[in-house]
Order: sequence, then C-alpha cells, then structure tokens
Amino acid sequence: MICKNITDCVGNTPLVSLSRLFPREGVSVLAKMEMMNPGGSIKDRPAKYMLEAGIQAGTINSGSHIIESSSGNLAIALAMTCKLKGLPFTAVVDPKISPTNLKMLRLYGANIVSVTEKDQNDGYLLTRINTVKQLLLSIPNSVWVNQYANPDNWRSHYHGEADEILRQTDRDIDYLVIGASTSGTLMGVSRRLREHFPAMKVIAVDIVGSVLFGGKSSPREIPGIGASRVPELLSPEEVDSVIYVDDYESALGCRELLVKEGILAGGSSGSSVSAIGKLLPDIPDGKCVLTLLPDRGERYLDLVYDEDWFDMVRQRHFDNTPPLQRKIA
Ligand code: PMP
Repeated sequence: MICKNITDCVGNTPLVSLSRLFPREGVSVLAKMEMMNPGGSIKDRPAKYMLEAGIQAGTINSGSHIIESSSGNLAIALAMTCKLKGLPFTAVVDPKISPTNLKMLRLYGANIVSVTEKDQNDGYLLTRINTVKQLLLSIPNSVWVNQYANPDNWRSHYHGEADEILRQTDRDIDYLVIGASTSGTLMGVSRRLREHFPAMKVIAVDIVGSVLFGGKSSPREIPGIGASRVPELLSPEEVDSVIYVDDYESALGCRELLVKEGILAGGSSGSSVSAIGKLLPDIPDGKCVLTLLPDRGERYLDLVYDEDWFDMVRQRHFDNTPPLQRKIA
C-alpha cells in the first residue's frame, strides 16, 4: 500500500509485549508504540484529527492561519500536518523550549512567537495564552487549536489508538496505564476501551509537581507529562486511580526500557513504565496491562539521558519524601 502523503502514515502503530522488562509469569504488559508515528509522537493523531475536523466543520479553510501554544510534540505534529495541508502555523513557545524542538519547528517551517515575561504563577502559561489571544486578534482568519479544551483531541485517541488496540489483540484489557497532560489520550482511549471491558481499571500517571489531579505545584523537568492547570477535557471521575512518579523515577523507567527492551523512548514513557512497576504487586495473575509509549528518546538526549541532568533529578528525589499513590474514586 502506498500512502498519499506522510500524514496518511499516522497511526497503525505496533503493540509490543514488554516481557523482558516485566517478566512475571501470568501478567502481560503490552505497549503501543506511539513513538513510531511519522512526527515522532502520539500527538500526530490529535494534530491531524483536530485540523481535519475543523476543515470538515468549516471553522478551518484554505485561508486559515493555525495557532497553538505548544513547545513540544503537538507543535511539531501541527507544523508537519499544516505543511501538508498548505496552512501557515504559528507556535507560541517560551524560553523553556528545548534547542532540539526549536530547531525541528524551524525546519518544519513553523512561525515561532516566543514569550519572555513570566506570569503571576512564576510560569509562562498565562503569558502564552494571552499571546495566543492577541495573535487571534491581529492575524486575519486565525484559528486557535486549543488542545486543552478541544474535544477532537480526545476523539482522535478514541477513534485512533483505542480502535487499533481492539483490532490488534483479542485479550481483555484489565488495567490501562496512561500518562496525562491535556488528558486527551487518557479520556479518549479509556472511553473506547471501557465500552468493551467495563471492569477495566483506568490508571492515570501524573508527575510530581503537576496539578492535574490535585497535586501541589513544584518544579518538574520532563516535558509532555503533567500540567500546571487542570484541562477542560479532564473528567477525574472516569479515572480509578492516579500513580505519581517523579522525574528521577521516570528517567529510571526510560533506562530500564532501553537496557531490557532496546527501546529508546521519551521521558513520559519512563513515567508509565515506572508506574507499572509500582502497580504490579497489586495485580492478580492472569491480567493484562496496557500502556502507551508516547514519543522517541532522541529528543531527550540532553535531558533524560544526560548524566548531569540525571544526577540533578536523583538529588531532588532523595531530598523529597517519596510520592504516594492517591486514590480518586
Ligand atoms: N507524553 C508525551 C511525550 C506527550 O507529548 C504528551 C502530550 N503532551 C503526553 C504524554 C500526554 O498526552 P495528553 O496531552 O493526551 O494527555
């Protein structure tokens, strides 16, 4: 089969058994390789879906200018998809953007607007949103994708990974373990799979320092997972429990994935691996755990896989009390 263009290659990612990392007999751990999407991450799915849904609804047309506040995977995915759709794209970023992502965005042809002023919370989130709002007023026919509130974000995962999982395995899924930020993946995949497996436990993975599930805001280093505000898309009552991991535990998870499975994955993949390690003792025999590995490790060589960075987060981990698992429902 020949794809019409690169955005046709989004999705249909393989499902891999992590049996070397989790060798316990009687429990299988499966991982969906979202890092194998053409833009390098799970965010290729919502980027394509949100744009195509907008085009179908008429809110996006051939003269539209797409805007989003993102310095990470969604920005890269939108830059790639907008290029193919012939739409200009502006990413609103802040000084915390990694040099690699900045270079990639430029190569994909995105316009970059970088905010420099911190907001009242000592972060950049509010300044970024204000900048998006100003751009919407000044750029004619501009459209804000708004991944934190756009329901086509979670729908992309409902109709994407979740449908594929149902086709790829005839096993019942007993535990779904997903790292959350906008919570689009968590909401979309869990809603679809629960239709088939009503007893399935939905377990969110959050990073220490994120406020998604009521955690206290504190410094955190790994991009992609966690949030500094609660997204409109999140329905916490649909989540059975939350497992917190910190930057160090996530980095350890990444290293284990690499050493034992030969998978070079991004930081949030390590967060999920580490969370599964915490969960496993509570799982009875005969059960199946499913997780997703959202992006590739190459973007993290100067972060998660850098020895100085690793020493810094290890120090922070041992300076703080270990995080506790918090039950929500
Ligand atoms: N992991 C990585 C690497 C990501 O880029 C994202 C998206 N920010 C997530 C996990 C979380 O996905 P979602 O926004 O759908 O909650």
